[in-house]
Amino acid sequence: MSVNINPMAAPSPQAKTLKFLEANHELLIDGKWQKAQDGATLDVVDPATGKPLATVACGGAADVDIAVTAARRAFEGEWSTKCGFDRAEILRKLARIVEEHSETLAELDTVDNGMPIMLARMIVGNTSSLFNYYAGWAERIEGTTTTPPSMILAEAEAFTYTLKEPVGVVGMVLPWNVPLSMAALKLGPALAAGCTVVLKPAEDTPLATLYLGHLLEEAGIPPGVVNIIPGLGHTAGAALAAHDDVDKIAFTGSTAVGGEIARAATGNFKKVSLELGGKSPVVVFADADIDLVVPGIAQAGFFLQGQNCMAGTRIFLEDSIHDEVIERLVAHVKTLKIGNGLDPETQIGPLITAKHRERVFAYIEAGLAEGATLAVGGDKIDGPGNFLSPTIFTDTTPDMKIVREEIFGPVIAVQRFKADDLEEVARQANDSIYGLSGSVWTRDLSLAHKMARRIRSGHVSVNCHGAVGPNIPFGGYRQSGWGREFGREGLELFLETKAVTVRL
Ligand code: NAP
Ligand code: MG
Repeated sequence: MSVNINPMAAPSPQAKTLKFLEANHELLIDGKWQKAQDGATLDVVDPATGKPLATVACGGAADVDIAVTAARRAFEGEWSTKCGFDRAEILRKLARIVEEHSETLAELDTVDNGMPIMLARMIVGNTSSLFNYYAGWAERIEGTTTTPPSMILAEAEAFTYTLKEPVGVVGMVLPWNVPLSMAALKLGPALAAGCTVVLKPAEDTPLATLYLGHLLEEAGIPPGVVNIIPGLGHTAGAALAAHDDVDKIAFTGSTAVGGEIARAATGNFKKVSLELGGKSPVVVFADADIDLVVPGIAQAGFFLQGQNCMAGTRIFLEDSIHDEVIERLVAHVKTLKIGNGLDPETQIGPLITAKHRERVFAYIEAGLAEGATLAVGGDKIDGPGNFLSPTIFTDTTPDMKIVREEIFGPVIAVQRFKADDLEEVARQANDSIYGLSGSVWTRDLSLAHKMARRIRSGHVSVNCHGAVGPNIPFGGYRQSGWGREFGREGLELFLETKAVTVRL
């Protein structure tokens, strides 16, 4: 692995990004930027240097309450009844503005979260595509008609149609791992549907979302339609989840907090969608193209330093290719460039916080203690920032902690399998409380489809891993969540269906 964590060696962000970092960062409520009611602030830190980046207003329950009132007022105003074509036009304008500001948004995600700038640029590009994609849906929201009789009316006397209506005021609670993308993938469909929003970004990564707040204003989103409240989970997040005037909560984060959100939501039975954790299988058959498999496993496991819900972290290698794949994978991992995300050469950035690095490192110690073989990595990297080398364990067994629990760091656990019993391979791949993603690697088309059907996950990729996009439904089986984001199903999360029956 080549390591260059010297912050002086990385390029500085552009002047526009620096100017934003130096500015005041307040809460966006009802179209006005304002301090928190109690004056609280959050210090935002660069995970690659440990240095402070910005100070941001930190909203609490009182601010959430004011924002929900503003969102309710905006919902009852013209936004929710605006013609879908008009909302589409605003979303398309937003997509163009995001493109114009793409470098600033990418740099903000990089300094705030640590992700390599190459990835941040790709993510901003996807954000713009996503707003365009949901602009298309805003123009296509439609119900159905049905003529069968209702219980009390004969067929000839009855006519029923359905209306799709926005669900109302939506609370969004987001994680730190892909900050801009997490905000956009919920805002796109919510705005297309005609909902209004109170959004809480993660306390560690509010910056790109706050910048997006300015772009939303520039695109012509009316005041109160999107309110942004950086704040803490147990205060602002909990207040949003429990709020009686919030109609729906859209959450992405850990399975543990997802459970708290779901329980809090029962106060008024608000609708809930949850994108939660994962521990996804990567199943490699002996006939797979090893040239694809080697970088593919590294990407599955180490994309965003493994801080990625769809990370492929349980690797199953067919016995006969196990040793060759591991040898080549270890050699490949040693070529990865670790460093400050602003360096365009960087492939692996820092972990989000020092505390999170300790948590991930504790898993590495657990792997060693449980008798797994450390094939590569396993070290904390000295110096500024929260760097940890990408780590591969072999000789792992299904009962080990590193195989069972979501680590959310660059640690993968390899097991061997024999391919003579497909049901047994599937049983091993499905031996998890999660079911978010997964991949199958083989040149045998029929085997690929058979395995894809057997893996109990919301998304299965063949000969690649985690190939998501705005039009591909994404979400979890089992403890990976409720509902599907992206695609048409992502829009449905923000719509209610109303049936209207007419006596003719
Ligand atoms: P997290 O700790 O669950 O936090 C997620 C969000 O919830 C943050 O905004 C957090 O606020 C807030 N929160 C914390 N406690 C809360 C409470 N009691 N009530 C309401 N909100 C609360 O997750 P994370 O550490 O940010 O992200 C990592 C997890 O997210 C992993 O498990 C990962 O798999 C999952 N994830 C899933 C997906 C997916 O699509 N399935 C995508 C990305 C990440 P703070 O910022 O103050 O902590
Ligand atoms: Mg940060």
